[in-house]
Amino acid sequence: MAPHRSKDPVPVLGPPALGKQKILDLLKFRPIDFAEIQKSLRENAEEAAKVKIGENKVEFSGRSLLGTLSRDAGIIKDGMRVSSAIAERSDGDFFYLLVSNFALSSTTVEEVRMHFPKGARVKIKHPRALCTAKGRVIIEIHNPMYIDFLGIEVPDGLTVEKIWEEASAALEKKDYVRAIHLLTRCVDEEGYKNKVEALSKRCQAWLGLNCYERAFEDAKRAHVVDSTHRHTYLLKGQLFLGLQKFRAALDSFYRSGLADDDTMKRCARLIEQRDTGNYELREFILGKSKAPEVGDYLGPVRMGMAADEEKGRGLFATEEIKAGQLLLVWNAAAVAPREDLPAKLMRKCLTSRKSLFQFLGLDSELAMEMGLFKPTNVLIHDQQQDYIWFDAVPAIAKLCSSYAFQIEDKPESPMGLWTLPALINHSCVPNVSQQMVGTALFVRAARNIRAEEELTLPYMDVKKPLDERMYWTDSRWGFTCKCLRCRVEARLHAQRPEFPCFHARMREAAKRKDRAEALEELRRIAVEVEDQIATLASPVERDWVRTSYYSAYRAGFLERSSDSPAKLSSRVSAYQMMAALHATCPGYGIVREMVALAKSALPSPGMEAISEKSRSLIEKECLCVLGEQKREFLDVFVDELLKGADFDILRT
Ligand SMILES: [Zn+2]
Repeated sequence: MAPHRSKDPVPVLGPPALGKQKILDLLKFRPIDFAEIQKSLRENAEEAAKVKIGENKVEFSGRSLLGTLSRDAGIIKDGMRVSSAIAERSDGDFFYLLVSNFALSSTTVEEVRMHFPKGARVKIKHPRALCTAKGRVIIEIHNPMYIDFLGIEVPDGLTVEKIWEEASAALEKKDYVRAIHLLTRCVDEEGYKNKVEALSKRCQAWLGLNCYERAFEDAKRAHVVDSTHRHTYLLKGQLFLGLQKFRAALDSFYRSGLADDDTMKRCARLIEQRDTGNYELREFILGKSKAPEVGDYLGPVRMGMAADEEKGRGLFATEEIKAGQLLLVWNAAAVAPREDLPAKLMRKCLTSRKSLFQFLGLDSELAMEMGLFKPTNVLIHDQQQDYIWFDAVPAIAKLCSSYAFQIEDKPESPMGLWTLPALINHSCVPNVSQQMVGTALFVRAARNIRAEEELTLPYMDVKKPLDERMYWTDSRWGFTCKCLRCRVEARLHAQRPEFPCFHARMREAAKRKDRAEALEELRRIAVEVEDQIATLASPVERDWVRTSYYSAYRAGFLERSSDSPAKLSSRVSAYQMMAALHATCPGYGIVREMVALAKSALPSPGMEAISEKSRSLIEKECLCVLGEQKREFLDVFVDELLKGADFDILRT
């Protein structure tokens, strides 16, 4: 399946970008108390009433509120917010707390209670307070990272041994946040004898939350105290797997002496894939097995500035590349329904600083740092860098809308974000193809690529007329495509008034109720387009234009009626149309169109023996999508295609 850019923006709950000065103000975090919030809201309400601005919200930029989560957390499905209550330690009264961009439609109450445990001491940075009609105060947080957890209440006088027991019980119950807070008490206890065990268990709890970077810190600390601690090696193996450091994972599993055979084999397989770029996908391609686990792979690709300044950064080939060669394998940062994507990305950031920097880097100069995208590089938690969070919500909203891909061309289709492939710029004559294998994206050369050539892919279906392509690039992504194909077609449009009319007529035809009439008109358009381009000297320019009006040609070749005159096929053959598609947008859902075109040239429908040259062209197209495959495999695959098999990997 080949995902493509979404044509609709992604909704996010959040305030507008804050700006630098405000961020600096925020860093000071002067404390604020409950009484002050009440007072401000009251004054604000009076002000609001005077000038009739209505909304009664107070932002305490640069302030922080200390309190305890005093109620069990829950989910407000409307807008997917987490609700809880925050109270001062000894004060019976409480404020409601609402946290946006954390809950997903699949989030359970148990899960939010684990992340927002009752009894946790919290510091809420930059609160926004508002008053309900009933006079209840609500503290709104749009960025889950605005909450610092300072620990969990334990009864006074509890011995460290007792805390240890509670922590172990919490870990057993997979209550990871609670376990982490309790274990922190043990770790921090002066002269505590079980320090290695406590660090090791806390590492395990971080792992349970998928916080690999934090887990890594604890594993390192545990091994400083006791470099032979075997259980910590086992955990290290797991966290290195999560961080995609497969060699280190294998080494740690080996040292632990506790890992099973399957785990060791799994590491070895992932190492081999990454070293060779050989991913065994045959069973998956044929739909006989589910997607295999794959690690990220970075081929001969570098980041750079596109020649067209409007496009900004892009990816470039660092060497000469043959069609079909694998360039990138990239696991999704997140795949989720449209409305869940921002929250899912926020949660990814909560657990991984590398992800955070990759996301934010998409919108700034940070990502010029290719090291950030090296699969084996690990970023370690750094308190100094926390300020970047203040702009995270608007930045993530923006990058969801700009960079996320829609998996299928349907409004309800899930969306995904693949950080490095997201930097590939658009062209209407793309040179790379992309396929989803599970939630990993495989990016391949769809034609031969020169060293230092920019990699490009289409942001939308480019088998469309120039005007329609321009409409989408302008209105949705805010740029004008200046690819060679667009320039050639723009010139034709300027010279010949027929071209803009073809598009208008195609749109009119699509609206007709009588399908036979609509098809007849489309066939007429294809014939006229063909007459217009007959005088073009360059064969590839003819191919581009044919592809632009493909829906008209399609009506001519694939939806012929017995009485329609063969005007089109006397001008251009089905094979030429196949070649036009392959020359214009190889790798983009055209295999099945090509098969249909090849079959349309046969004297009777249902015959499978298409011409040698058609078959060889289809094989070439398969190379762009599947990469180099063994002869026997390709034969089986193409035979199945001709028999009408519908392979998932070819869907768009
Ligand atoms: Zn273009």
